Amino acid sequence: MEEADIGLIGLGVMGENLALNIADNGYKVAVFNRTAEKVETFLNNSGELRANVMGSGDLAAFVAMLKRPRSVIIMVKAGQPVDEVIAELKPHLAEGDVIIDAGNANYHDTVRRFSELDGTGIGFLGIGVSGGEEGARHGPSIMVGGSEAQWKNAEGVLTAISAKFNGEPCCAYLGTGGAGHFVKTIHNGIEYADMQMIAEIYGIMRDGLGMSPEACAKVFTEWNSGPLDSYLIEITGHVLAAMDADSGKPLVDVIVDAAGQKGTGRWSAIEALSLGVSATTIEGAVAARSISAMREERIKGEEIYGAGAKGKATISLEALEKALLAGKIAAYAQGFAVMAKASEEHGWNLPLDAIARIWRAGCIIRSRFLDQIAQSFAGGAGTNLLVQPAFVEMMKDSSAALRAVVATCAINELPAPCLSSALAYFDAYRQARGTTNLTQGQRDFFGAHGFKRLDRDGDFHHEWPSLVEK
Ligand code: NAP
Repeated sequence: MEEADIGLIGLGVMGENLALNIADNGYKVAVFNRTAEKVETFLNNSGELRANVMGSGDLAAFVAMLKRPRSVIIMVKAGQPVDEVIAELKPHLAEGDVIIDAGNANYHDTVRRFSELDGTGIGFLGIGVSGGEEGARHGPSIMVGGSEAQWKNAEGVLTAISAKFNGEPCCAYLGTGGAGHFVKTIHNGIEYADMQMIAEIYGIMRDGLGMSPEACAKVFTEWNSGPLDSYLIEITGHVLAAMDADSGKPLVDVIVDAAGQKGTGRWSAIEALSLGVSATTIEGAVAARSISAMREERIKGEEIYGAGAKGKATISLEALEKALLAGKIAAYAQGFAVMAKASEEHGWNLPLDAIARIWRAGCIIRSRFLDQIAQSFAGGAGTNLLVQPAFVEMMKDSSAALRAVVATCAINELPAPCLSSALAYFDAYRQARGTTNLTQGQRDFFGAHGFKRLDRDGDFHHEWPSLVEK
């Protein structure tokens, strides 16, 4: 019986919650999962939403439950599993049906999947979904890429299930092909930078100022009422305040200092490097997770070189707050600059203001700050946040604090790779006369690469002395 408005394959944490969200919004959803028992369990646990959910552990029976043209969301482990699911699903679909990959795909895979489905009559959308388990259940941020016609078919349900900011849906069509998954990748790159800078500030509080987790928690909680107001600052307060029932210690003190990563942060850095866009704060955050995983080496390193100066830093909490804001502006400036360049390269015409708008709620980096970014980019103004008038004012007010904090870290031997790179990015961005005139001279010396002159147009080469040993 064809009665489900939409199908969903993959009952992991995200798929299960997304299906309940769809049902909660009044749509009938059919589910399928590789491990068939999960379908039964899901249906049995769907409670008051039972009337809107159906499903089968048999793929053909699942497809038969869908209204035509069929829309099927795939929410399985990213990578090869998505290709396997598409291959199994394809023979059951017909012209006009649409497959929607909602996982964290590498956008290059999305582009390939578009071309593999091209000519089959089966449509494809690559959508980025952010917000974790809670977002999936109550409203994630949804970044859509693909053909506009296919977006129109899925627009109703995707808009309904998305988060709302002041009543506005956090779901938008962003461009063709891999645009949605590319934007989701950069979202995660910015998320890495945001999280790492918060961790660096916590490190200064803990090691430089000798503050307890409880004291740090109070500060972050207070900051959540100011310009740093965001989901990540809010959860930081909760993480630092949590106590471990087993040891009676603050939980954060018993958690191993080695961070995991699934790939999207790294992809952001790779894409920035490929596009030739400076995104050093995002790169720094990826590198910080990598070095965090080298725990044994770090322990040996401290034995050899000694620990940083503990409890000796003199810096105010106000300076830390402002430094975090300045670092955040630099990191977001980099992320948006990467998206602007990719948009130009792929002809996506990415709406930077709409991207900021759909990140204001539902996703992990949601914040008051994103509303300011959305306003700044409204109407397609400029591409770098550092030249947007509202952010120029904020940067003028906070960059001195970032400088003081980075200097404090250097003197007290406290690593702050993201805050330092944010400052370096800002200083480089505002330096009218840089130093690569020397680099160009060196390149011309050893490789005859030529150089431009400030006083004349054209390409020039200098006759350098030969250093060949006689
Ligand atoms: P996950 O652990 O990435 O995937 C679990 C689901 O994938 C299960 O339904 C599993 O089926 C299915 N699966 C794995 N390999 C398969 C294969 N070869 N063929 C068919 N199905 C296969 O779960 P998740 O955390 O819910 O994430 C789903 C997607 O959302 C991923 O792309 C993830 O990166 C993305 N995402 C996750 C989050 C998050 O906070 N977790 C946030 C945003 C986006 P079985 O039950 O049979 O094993």
